[in-house]
Amino acid sequence: MTRPDQLRLLAVHAHPDDESSKGAATMAKYVAEGVRVMVATCTGGERGSVLNPAMDRPEVWERLPQIRVEEMARAREILGVEQEFLGFVDSGLPEGDPLPPLPEGCFALVPLEEAAAPLVALIRRFKPHVLTTYDERGGYPHPDHIKTHEVSMYAFDAAGDPDRYPELGEPWQPSKLYYHMSFTLPRTKALHEAILATGAESPYTEWLANWDPARDISHRVTTRVPCGEYFSVRDAALIAHATQIDPLGRWFACPIETQQQIWPTEDYELARSLIDAPKPEDDLFAGLRSEVGVR
Ligand SMILES: [Zn+2]
Repeated sequence: MTRPDQLRLLAVHAHPDDESSKGAATMAKYVAEGVRVMVATCTGGERGSVLNPAMDRPEVWERLPQIRVEEMARAREILGVEQEFLGFVDSGLPEGDPLPPLPEGCFALVPLEEAAAPLVALIRRFKPHVLTTYDERGGYPHPDHIKTHEVSMYAFDAAGDPDRYPELGEPWQPSKLYYHMSFTLPRTKALHEAILATGAESPYTEWLANWDPARDISHRVTTRVPCGEYFSVRDAALIAHATQIDPLGRWFACPIETQQQIWPTEDYELARSLIDAPKPEDDLFAGLRSEVGVR
């Protein structure tokens, strides 16, 4: 199944559509270079809403979970990746004051050891050299995103340990783990200013006004992967998630050519590494290519 001389990347995400908004151009670039890329989607996105006004119709709401599976299949084809659902149920984004309790049986409530098991099994089967996931705040505070972070960290350690989950296959230890760092203050500001310079209105104005600089994460970036050539693939994959993404919305407010000029990378923090490689990096496989025998 896995070739010893092939690099492999496993991107762990919470919901269908997250893979297209975080690290999608990076994945498309690596696929084009011959890397095997797998997306693990922890939940089915069952409790998501319809966020695209053009799709806000009763017949869409009626079969939303099935539609999200179909959208994921289209995005997977566009990105050229492999993809598996890990089988957990979306926790929903609790809203209100006080917050309502999480729904019974949802991903965020599954005990960690049990919640990490499908990912451990996938790591042992797919044998990735590199994992990507969300930071300790989930990138944004959705309970499923925070759980995705926890499960990823747990599985990164457990997958290589022969004493843990012995029933789930031969141990495999990934070498590196990265957090997505794409939504930083400097990048958002740069996009915002570029939009204003064209005379258009920026969809980031309110977002930036409420952005506490103390919560910026840009100083944590260790790795910038040049992937501007693949921004159009990223956007096509996003649009494939038609119930979640409004093609007239803020994702597409800044023209691709402008993004390629002002911010042609997707950015990451190297959170765990078992190998030595000088930082800053421009490649998630930095330090691994000679070991694996691939250039
Ligand atoms: Zn999500």
